[in-house]
Amino acid sequence: MKQGRRPKQKALKRLLLRPPAKRRTVKRKLIILAAVLAADMLLVCLCAGAAADFLAPVPVSRAQAQSAQGGLMGEEAAQGGFREAEAARGGLKEADAGQNGFEEAPGGSGEKLIALTFDDGPHPVYTKKLLDGLKERHVKASFFLIGQSIPGNEELIRQMARDGHLVGTHCYSHEDLTKMTLQEASEDIERTNEMICEISGRLPDHIRPPYGRWSDDLEAAVGMTPVFWDIDTLDWKSQDAAKVERQIYKNVGKHQVILLHDVFDTSVEAALAVIDTLAEQGYTFVTVDELLID
Ligand SMILES: [Zn+2]
Repeated sequence: MKQGRRPKQKALKRLLLRPPAKRRTVKRKLIILAAVLAADMLLVCLCAGAAADFLAPVPVSRAQAQSAQGGLMGEEAAQGGFREAEAARGGLKEADAGQNGFEEAPGGSGEKLIALTFDDGPHPVYTKKLLDGLKERHVKASFFLIGQSIPGNEELIRQMARDGHLVGTHCYSHEDLTKMTLQEASEDIERTNEMICEISGRLPDHIRPPYGRWSDDLEAAVGMTPVFWDIDTLDWKSQDAAKVERQIYKNVGKHQVILLHDVFDTSVEAALAVIDTLAEQGYTFVTVDELLID
């Protein structure tokens, strides 16, 4: 699958990621700026539409489920899909950046994208510490919340929404959804979604099923996107910031979803240290939906 798509992807990328020289020319010739930008935007839109059609057959949840089952690494088939989507998105962002003087473009900095995901919160102390650390670093992450931990921590959820983090569901009481009846599981999820929506004003689209246990029936019933992971830091087990960091550095790649838990001080410490280190190596941190194909 990958081999067959590669040339087409490269061609698409060349088309979308126009060389800097062209942008400089566009900038100098202000008189034709409007006309060129209009034509470019039309082209980019057409290309993005074509890319979306081209990518449509890759089922995200299936690819991700296989990747989760396949262990930490080696999910090239799924990752190939992510990269192609990102190429198209990166092109759009580059086009926007061209108009705005090359401001920060998450997808435009290359392909080293990381999604940090935090389960089991909110925690009154550690989630707060994490949110403040992320804000200081201008980094966005994804949170999967436990419904029963929400009361009393509403302000943290408001802060997540305000700061642009993805707020998803990790169910009400962290039980294995596949051991419930379909109706019980759906109610558990919906109850948590409603709690989040009441505070953030937005119904979650993404779910991290507890223990990664999910089913096709559940997916059909609740219509949410399940989010698995590429790197399991086992932070809950070690509760050792240095070990968590090592686990990430050892496995880090270009498009990775990293599993952490914001209910441990050690995990928060590790996450902030990892952000500082990997940012220096050119990694960009995005919310997990940026790595998925919807
Ligand atoms: Zn959990």
